[in-house]
Amino acid sequence: MRIETIEKLCCPFDKAELSLTVIHQDDSGNVTEGFLICSECKRLYPIITGIPIMNPDEYREFKFEQPVLDKWQSHLSGKTIENFRVVDPEDGNELLQ
Ligand SMILES: [Zn+2]
Repeated sequence: MRIETIEKLCCPFDKAELSLTVIHQDDSGNVTEGFLICSECKRLYPIITGIPIMNPDEYREFKFEQPVLDKWQSHLSGKTIENFRVVDPEDGNELLQ
């Protein structure tokens, strides 16, 4: 997916802005791997083979996303993902409440 298209996306839950981390781009500048993080609810939406996964939580399967997130661990700067949301271990778990 092209960066310009990705930048038009917003969080499907709260319509908040998403911040994009690009992990891999192809030769024509399409983002093939990366993730979007919502500034409001802190949900993480992975971009896998160029497709952003933005399904409602109940249609997401963490066990399928886990291997990708493990691979991207170095891009998450020490943060972990719980319930599809980014959790900073230093902040405790208040984001989940
Ligand atoms: Zn959100």
